[in-house]
Parts: sequence; structure tokens; C-alpha cells
Amino acid sequence: MHRILLIEDEQKIARFVELELTHEGYEVIKAEDGRTGLELAEKGGWDLMLLDIMLPGINGLEVLRRLRKTSDAPVILLTARDAVMDKVTGLDMGADDYITKPFSIEELLARIRTALRKRQAAALPVLTVGPLQMDIARHTVSCMGENVELTGREFSLLQMLMENPGIVLTRDALMEQVWGYDYMGETNVVDVYIRYLRSKIDEVFGIKLLHTVRGVGYTLRENTHET
Ligand code: CA
Repeated sequence: MHRILLIEDEQKIARFVELELTHEGYEVIKAEDGRTGLELAEKGGWDLMLLDIMLPGINGLEVLRRLRKTSDAPVILLTARDAVMDKVTGLDMGADDYITKPFSIEELLARIRTALRKRQAAALPVLTVGPLQMDIARHTVSCMGENVELTGREFSLLQMLMENPGIVLTRDALMEQVWGYDYMGETNVVDVYIRYLRSKIDEVFGIKLLHTVRGVGYTLRENTHET
């Protein structure tokens, strides 16, 4: 269950948001002023924070500024309609997003889901095998620092190989993972796509990363001798 810290002094809004988010399966803890909010925030363990800007005690932007010294948890600011400067300042100070009052619960839920998804994506690793790098979150591949354009299937196939460097993966395993169990097309599709990858990586950069293991399958590893 995702834990959300809601720092909001307007009780009507706070109760409404708490009720709706709880109903959606989030765990919500409320704070009604900046100082309490900051204390709770700094304790950590939050998946996301909803932070009002106009707060008694310490205002929301100051809470954010202090919080960012110790935490990179996602923060969505709750801002007044005309507070353009607050929004800009808030984003500069490391807020992930803002939502303008009055907002619909649907919009808030969408913003929360997006912020949580981005955070999960950011936690995905960058895979490296030799000169080849794959950023899974950004869905990009580079070789020797140069961008390599891949189709979705090529990317998925390469990802599986890069997640298992040096390990021989059978055609069946690759087919199941990349094309699915119910794939009904050509049985040599893996070979065809390996050829695409070779033409875009090995041949372009004059290296040998994709190795055929005769009668078994393929492996990706950084060395020069043939198998
Ligand atoms: Ca307020």
C-alpha cells in the first residue's frame, strides 16, 4: 500500500482528499501545519506527499526547501489558482508536480498515479554490457555514447540479452519472453531480429557483442573470439 502524507490546513479539503484516497487504497496521514508536516515528512517512509503552499507555521515552499535536503520523495504541490510564482518556484525547488485548487479528485488521482509511476521508472536500472548501455526508464540504447534507434521488439530482445550477459538464451526462451507464448508467426523470428540487432549494433560499431551458440541460441557478451 502506498503511504501518502497530506499537509493541508484547510480541514474540508484535507478530509475530502483523505476520504477519497483511502477509498482508492492509499494510506493517508494528515498534518495541518507546516512544522508538523515537515517533522512527519523528515521521518521518511512516504511514497508521495501532497503539500499545500499556504500553511500556518512554515509555508509549503519552505517545507519543500528543507525537505529536499534529506528526501527525494515525490511531492505534489496544492496551489491557489493565481499563484504562478509559487508553482514556478515550487518546481524549481524540486516539486514533482502541482495541482491548482479547486481540483477534481479524478485529476488528483491521475497526478498521483503519474508521480508514482515516474518514481518507479526512475528506479529502473541502466544496463551496461561493454560499450552498450540501455536506459530502461527512458527506453533508450546507446553504444560508445551514440544513440541506437531500436523498434519495440528489438529493444525487448536486447533487454533480455543484456539482463543475462554471458548466459546462453535459447530461441524458445527468447521467443516466449519477447513475443509471448501464443506467438503464431515465423519460427525463425528470433534469428531475424538478432540479425536486425547485429546490423544496428555490431556492424555499425565494428564490435562483436551478439554471439550465436550453434544449435542452442544466443548470448550477449563483451569479447572478440567467435563461438
Ligand atoms: Ca492552506
